[in-house]
Amino acid sequence: MQFKPVVALVGRPNVGKSTLFNRLTRSRAALVADYSGLTRDRHYGEGRVGDYPFLVIDTGGFEPVAKTGILKEMARQTEQAIAESDVVIFLVDARAGVNAHDHEIARMLRRAGPKVVLAVNKAEGMNSGQASAEFHELGLGTPHPISSAHGDGVVALIEEALSQLDNPYIQAVPAEDDVEVPEPELGQDESATEEEEVFTDHRIKLAIVGRPNVGKSTLINTLMGEERVIAFDMPGTTRDAIEIDFERNGKKYTLIDTAGLRKRGKVFESVEKFSVIKTLQAIEASNVVLLMLDAQTEISEQDAHIAGFILESGRALVVAINKWDGLDADKREWIQREFERKLRFLSFAKMHTISALKGQGVNAVLKSVNEAHAAAFIKLSTPKLTRELHAAVEQQQPPRKGIFRPKMRYAHQGGQNPPLIIVHGNALDAVPDSYKRYLESRMRKAFNLSGTPLRIEFKSSK
Ligand code: GDP
Ligand code: GDP
Repeated sequence: MQFKPVVALVGRPNVGKSTLFNRLTRSRAALVADYSGLTRDRHYGEGRVGDYPFLVIDTGGFEPVAKTGILKEMARQTEQAIAESDVVIFLVDARAGVNAHDHEIARMLRRAGPKVVLAVNKAEGMNSGQASAEFHELGLGTPHPISSAHGDGVVALIEEALSQLDNPYIQAVPAEDDVEVPEPELGQDESATEEEEVFTDHRIKLAIVGRPNVGKSTLINTLMGEERVIAFDMPGTTRDAIEIDFERNGKKYTLIDTAGLRKRGKVFESVEKFSVIKTLQAIEASNVVLLMLDAQTEISEQDAHIAGFILESGRALVVAINKWDGLDADKREWIQREFERKLRFLSFAKMHTISALKGQGVNAVLKSVNEAHAAAFIKLSTPKLTRELHAAVEQQQPPRKGIFRPKMRYAHQGGQNPPLIIVHGNALDAVPDSYKRYLESRMRKAFNLSGTPLRIEFKSSK
């Protein structure tokens, strides 16, 4: 298994990194993540050129303070970018020409030796030889003139960057679920085999995520004991997902590890232990996410960011509040309520208090993981969904909008993990969000969908 390749944009302030980032990601529906770290912002987005999706990191702006401050900060960002990415796009400014900071970054890149493509930005209206000539001296190969603002040369630049990867990266793009499902004749097709078939025999791909020090490694050790040591000695590039199989209570799991920075991190002192990219990739590669929190500290902004990524991904979710053993008994109830209140937006997920260190609550967590997985992969037949839809409408009609009364005719399942229910009918554009939430909660209850988000889409005829 391979993750989407990660492209990092580096360069001194003002060369056009944000402009390029916006151009690469704006055609995509969703920004993957905006991450405000302690000292600076970094942006993470998903880009796509042709059939090739990739992740982009903009190493972000920083406040240029003292001169030494800039150099130090630039070094730190460049190191982080190298550690987190598969290929670096180094931006320079065609109009400003080479400057000392460019040389400094080039020196770091040459020394660390990541794959680099040199982009000479703001080159619109210049002939390419004229734009790139002086940048050969940076010693990083052929300069590629581009204009982030106008788009010139950007596709070729990304193709060049992706072609540098060891394993040429190819991933089939799944077709949108656009297949028209014929309206069923109700009452037909009630055979038990089609109903709510659950893939309980699948391996569960589980990502354990959380900020540093919440106890992820401790839990993994508790789950796997000695096996883990062996798994980590396996050769493999840092960019591939590290997957570790384990079995517990007769059930099979594959743990998606987020430890990818470990190896490269050794090169640089200042690289952060927590990697947003690794977390995003692990979430993406999983079916079920276990979000770990620390009962002994307040919920932080970083926790909220991670929760946000999970929510956006649509993955099934279980929440574990760890280090419960270290709490005074009289504080427990209050703390549990506090966590529940702050995480109300994750209310579809089961929440557990555990001690990874003592192994307490771990079996209950895995039981919820199993349930969440089953719910995420539930198969719901069209007749069954349609019956539930009609019952819901009978109890509460969607509101009229102008002369139109939305009419819901039938529903079918359009996807799994998360389950997607597509409701067909007329004038459904007029259905308000509140009604959608009503349907969601009906369906959730009717089919016992605990631990997974549920998506509902409307499709009007005509
Ligand atoms: P960053 O600090 O590296 O993220 O740079 P920005 O993306 O914020 O861009 C810095 C300035 O350069 C802004 O005023 C942009 O409008 C301008 N800029 C960015 N790309 C281009 C380009 O391709 N051509 C021109 N002429 N200006 C650009
Ligand atoms: P990670 O960075 O999320 O992998 O966190 P670690 O597993 O390295 O744990 C960070 C610290 O928290 C270590 O000192 C652990 O011993 C401690 N820790 C982890 N789980 C528990 C727990 O359940 N109870 C207590 N009291 N401490 C824990």
